[in-house]
Amino acid sequence: MPAACIACGFHLTHEVYRPGDHPLSVLALPRTEDEARNAMRFPMNFRACATCGHIFNVDFDYYQIPYEEDSNLMYNKAPIWTEHLEALIDELVEKYGVRSKCLVDIGCGDGGFLKLLVERHLGARCIGFEPGIESDNAAANGLEVFKDYFVPMRDLARIRPDFLICRHVIEHMAEPRQFVAEIAYWCNIHHVFPVFLVEVPRIDNAIAQGRINDFLYEHPSNFTQFSFQNMLEQTGYEILELRAAYHDEVTVAFVRAKKLTRPGRTWDGAEAYRQSLLEQAASVRDALWRMRRAGKTIAFWGATGKGASFLNAFDLSGEDWPTVVDSDYKKVGRYVPRTAQLIRPPQYLQENPVDVIIITTQWRAKDIAREIKQRGIQCGQIMILADHRLKPFNGEVA
Ligand SMILES: [Zn+2]
Repeated sequence: MPAACIACGFHLTHEVYRPGDHPLSVLALPRTEDEARNAMRFPMNFRACATCGHIFNVDFDYYQIPYEEDSNLMYNKAPIWTEHLEALIDELVEKYGVRSKCLVDIGCGDGGFLKLLVERHLGARCIGFEPGIESDNAAANGLEVFKDYFVPMRDLARIRPDFLICRHVIEHMAEPRQFVAEIAYWCNIHHVFPVFLVEVPRIDNAIAQGRINDFLYEHPSNFTQFSFQNMLEQTGYEILELRAAYHDEVTVAFVRAKKLTRPGRTWDGAEAYRQSLLEQAASVRDALWRMRRAGKTIAFWGATGKGASFLNAFDLSGEDWPTVVDSDYKKVGRYVPRTAQLIRPPQYLQENPVDVIIITTQWRAKDIAREIKQRGIQCGQIMILADHRLKPFNGEVA
């Protein structure tokens, strides 16, 4: 079954273009005729998402592309393209006020874009992330350069940028949605909300004109203007501005991660829960062994599902803790997975009473306690796991 849409996550797609295997089109350009004839080829299987219209190569494998070994620069010097770049810089300066601010260009290539800003001497701090060999040129162009991938968790916290820029990078990614979603998430966790300028090629003209040659192995994603906007909105961004540019061949967006209260709360809650489970695993096991050493005989009631989970969580092996019963006769005669107790019927406890019965499933506790009473099973105490420890269960039989 083909993969789900990498822009919106929807699972239904339809075939658009499947020409067989093609060579890379930009990277690793052959140096000889022979090399060209024998160039490695890669699967081209472009499908369109049934809801957002995103066209993507379902057979793409990012790791086939030698990004770190070769330049991936597109030709940047043409006059109309230069006008496009200058217009974006004007907008950053005049509308978004980048003077003296900190800008991070993710996948900056040779730093050519931010160089246009550096040249205006506005006191802005211009940082580039570029894992490829172009990073040396970015340094020469006046950027502070990290020869690395941008890691939102790490880099949003340590740099706290006012602006993020990512131009002609996202269409190369195997998981573009995860990339932008992760940035929005860490913006929230680190409480830093940069204006994010994102630009990708726009496939709408190619579709309207029936163009065949827009599909490249290096571009697993072909965003329509809608699929791009939809991805940004779905992943938690407020759209400040989004438009077609450069003869409608690219989509430019200025966005910002929306402030969400939920991610931080989820993170804090998850950490507290993790800690409590860790502590509980140790303390309950200790409590059980203390009872055993004090000479108490102990049985567990509830052998499968949450009961099996209980016995496994506290590592209560059948050799040390042999007595396990279950109300369900279909389970009797079978064994608890891994801890390996024989599952006995409730009558076993009528004939072999114990000091303590531990009910292993909180949600069935009242029924089990009632069954213990109805069967006249004698025991000193019924216990249950509550508030991270074993407590006497009083329920309805108190
Ligand atoms: Zn989609």
